[in-house]
Amino acid sequence: MKITAIKAWQVDLPLKEGRYSWSNGNFVEVFDATVVAVETDDGVTGYAECCPLGSAYLPAYGAGVRAGLAEIAPKLIGLDPTNLGEMNRRMDAALKGHAFVKAPIDIACWDILGKVAGLPVHALLGGAAQDRVALYRAISQQPPEQMARAVAGYRAEGYTKFQLKVGGNADEDIARIIACRDILHPSDVLVADANTGWTRAEAARVVAAVSDLDVYIEQPCPSFEECLSVRRRTALPFVLDEVITDVEALLRGLAEDAMDIINLKISKVGGLTKARLIRDLCVESGIPMTIEDTWGGDIVTATIAHLARSTPAEFCFSATDFNSYGTRDIATGAPRRLDGFMTASDAPGLGVTPLIESFGAPALSIGG
Ligand code: MG
Repeated sequence: MKITAIKAWQVDLPLKEGRYSWSNGNFVEVFDATVVAVETDDGVTGYAECCPLGSAYLPAYGAGVRAGLAEIAPKLIGLDPTNLGEMNRRMDAALKGHAFVKAPIDIACWDILGKVAGLPVHALLGGAAQDRVALYRAISQQPPEQMARAVAGYRAEGYTKFQLKVGGNADEDIARIIACRDILHPSDVLVADANTGWTRAEAARVVAAVSDLDVYIEQPCPSFEECLSVRRRTALPFVLDEVITDVEALLRGLAEDAMDIINLKISKVGGLTKARLIRDLCVESGIPMTIEDTWGGDIVTATIAHLARSTPAEFCFSATDFNSYGTRDIATGAPRRLDGFMTASDAPGLGVTPLIESFGAPALSIGG
């Protein structure tokens, strides 16, 4: 089997809440996603989606996905998409870094492999380890009372895990954590995610002020060293996200006992092939994960669901149903949340069919 064409469409994903706000005054109102099709001489086509959270969250952005694909796609025509190892080696040889650019190609190749094998992607990633995946809800940064109301609203929809966007003013962040914990049940999970927004001193004040509460602290500061410094001042469970960029970063975190949990964002690490490696290392090392991505719609949500479903429940801290945050359907067959959980399709491949006729003309078309 050979790749004959690679196509990409730009797709806008507006938000139901109108705006998603996090640390340091950053916000997004419409996400810029790219849907990718990898076509083959067998007539089988694989699909994927990549939606980086750009503008000061990640060193990645929506238009960068398409610019990077234009760079590497011509070098991938003619390769066997079912040979995932060789596909990844050729992409890494064609362009250094830019893991997020390579992710949708890798994921589309997993979709092809599943379709050819007649198996769902979760079966190829190790097999179903859980029937349904617990979801968390990200709570956009607002004044404390408004965030507590948002938590109560999403709790009524069935979520039991919540991730507060803090990383603003430390005093206000303390009030946010207290207000939200106060309305939750003891079995509910609360994570305070600063998204690198605190200095060490601010983080030290926050962890001291909430030390008697049941709350996880996520990525307080920008660097690994700063986070480690905060981690050593608190007994609260500790999550690393932004600094976990690859296997090397995970191994350093393990060696230095820098975290209890990581967030594994599939496109940030380069797709399912590399995410599976990190997932397996975490399982072997006793580190639970939030399995998610940097944002997205139906196809990203389906991809998350397959990796999460093939991860043992005790190591799957939570996952994200990004397609419930947006107003737009971009594929059929995607997971739908039920009582704070979702599952992955048992159809071959990712089990999704993009609504390509709604996307307009492709932004990129190589080969064919
Ligand atoms: Mg995070």
